[in-house]
Amino acid sequence: MPQVAGGSAFYVRCHSRIYFMGLIEYLDKLIVEHGSSVIADKHRDFIRAQAAALEKKVADLEADNTALKKRVSHLESELAAQTRLKEFEEHRGAFFKRKPDGSYHLAVYCPRCKQSANSNHMLPYSCSCGWSAGFAAWELKSVMKELP
Ligand SMILES: [Zn+2]
Repeated sequence: MPQVAGGSAFYVRCHSRIYFMGLIEYLDKLIVEHGSSVIADKHRDFIRAQAAALEKKVADLEADNTALKKRVSHLESELAAQTRLKEFEEHRGAFFKRKPDGSYHLAVYCPRCKQSANSNHMLPYSCSCGWSAGFAAWELKSVMKELP
């Protein structure tokens, strides 16, 4: 990397080399044409103006990046909450629990305490909390066919 007086300061401050490529190419060209010790004031002014513009651009991008990271984090927690909410599907007054593949566990869950409910084949599903479903185990497969 060519050393140019006053140039290394803004180069180091930048996090993204891409925005400096044009400037670095310009510096390389100057050094080849004039030698590293001879850079005219107008070139230095140009370099300073470019550096200032790039520093502002970097600051803007860093601010955008911070805002976007915050937004992604917010959306990720919203999505996690939605996923937890959608773990159960309510149908005919009972809850059915989704598997990760989108199908359902072959069980009925109490909508109050989200514990699995019991049925002795003929009697409706019921929970220890007092809740009971409007269907029994013998109907489970047909009830579950109606699930989305
Ligand atoms: Zn219950």
